[in-house]
Amino acid sequence: MDLARETAVSLLAQLNSGSITSEAVTQAYLERAERLDGQIHSLLYRNPEASIAQAREIDARRKAGQPVGKLAGVPISIKDVLCTKGLPTTCGSRMLENFRPPYDATVIRKLAEADAVIIGKTNMDEFAMGSSTENSAFGPTRNPWDLERIPGGSSGGSAAAVAADFAPLSIGSDTGGSIRQPAGLCGVTGLKPTYGRVSRYGLVAFASSLDQVGPFAHDLADTALLLEAIAGHDPHDATSVNAPVPNYLATLDTPLANLRVGVVREYFGEGLDPEVEASVREAIRVYEAAGATIKEVSLPHSKYGIAAYYLVATAEASSNLARYDGTIFGHRAADISPKYPSEKELPPLILMMMASRAEGFGPEVKRRIMLGTHALSAGYADQYYNQALKVRRLIRNDFDAAFHEVDVLIGPTSPTAAFKLGEKSSDPLSMYLSDIYTITTNLAGIPGLSIPCGLTKTGLPIGLQLLGAPFAEDTLLRAGRVFEKATDWHTKRPSL
Ligand code: GLN
Repeated sequence: MDLARETAVSLLAQLNSGSITSEAVTQAYLERAERLDGQIHSLLYRNPEASIAQAREIDARRKAGQPVGKLAGVPISIKDVLCTKGLPTTCGSRMLENFRPPYDATVIRKLAEADAVIIGKTNMDEFAMGSSTENSAFGPTRNPWDLERIPGGSSGGSAAAVAADFAPLSIGSDTGGSIRQPAGLCGVTGLKPTYGRVSRYGLVAFASSLDQVGPFAHDLADTALLLEAIAGHDPHDATSVNAPVPNYLATLDTPLANLRVGVVREYFGEGLDPEVEASVREAIRVYEAAGATIKEVSLPHSKYGIAAYYLVATAEASSNLARYDGTIFGHRAADISPKYPSEKELPPLILMMMASRAEGFGPEVKRRIMLGTHALSAGYADQYYNQALKVRRLIRNDFDAAFHEVDVLIGPTSPTAAFKLGEKSSDPLSMYLSDIYTITTNLAGIPGLSIPCGLTKTGLPIGLQLLGAPFAEDTLLRAGRVFEKATDWHTKRPSL
């Protein structure tokens, strides 16, 4: 048996029965990553000694009959956007290349309480801005299904690390699709929880009203288990909601009575690849065959999603990223001499900030800061930012109306399968369009799930997206399970 090709649920059964040890499991995954990640570059940082020491400690506790956590001894990787005390947390940026946070994010603390074994930090687009992981300052991640192609982004390292079996679980973040889109393109399962379901404390902020942390896994049982471990109220995050966390895993196989599935008309328009469409249409037939009622629904304001998102997200990013100025956080430039005649009169402090930001941030981050600063600037805010907030409300209203008629919405996660490295790098707008079906979810704050639903003729994964009403993660997972039970796409693995 290959210990490094399992699911967390299966590993836990074997760990609890004593037939395997966490040390052996952790060792197997670490060895696999050591052997194969050179081609993929999903992990920015690994910590083999500490991981093995932690696994041994959990084995000892288990053997002694002492209590252990929900994920005791299961390896997991973490997107490098979550603060890990004493370990590098770079956000894929030169700006934070040498940053080691003095505290753990709440999600990290919860994983430690669950006794999960953190094997490393995953690559990402710089500050989570991107859809391909090519915006990482430390080089791109490659898709394990085709090394010429991107894994999606911004949590591309997490998706690739699960697809390649470097750990059965990973944690990502999703501001406009960054969990679901890479999950879809890498043939794994990814869930963006409802805004407020999971604490953002210690998640490095990109766009605070959109950011949410969530799980990556191979299947829905593992997704449910991991969501249970990380969800819940946190006094350190005023936007986290004080509501009990359901037993997602225990109810996963409880059938949903009279499931109503809404097919979103706007998600089947121009730009949708025919092979992706065919797989999603086939998935809809699977739901019909399983007894679900299928209904076409409309989300008429979807077409404004990308425009509204790139105002709200950039506006929030421009203020969130103002803290990286070389004084307290991150990179400080050594050479602060004026670069242009117009800078000659500036005080050294300002020159230091300008040079630090110029050196520390990559081109996409700079583009976002400039867009966001413009959208918020006096005289323009009403035209741009405030207008975008109104559109945001209309988008949420569309979803609210839809969830009066159906339990879940269905469509493709992305318009195409994984594209080639470099294919969209010179055309930011075409890159932005790869989030066309995921981005409104964040504007509305609702939960979204991507599950594998097919492969293209050339063997690239296709993702099926399910959207649910606020805090209906349990419905979403159980609805996803209907498809998983009827198909075997979630068991497919890339040949590496
Ligand atoms: N791709 C989108 C962006 O570039 C979403 C990123 C994300 O969800 N973090 O902003």
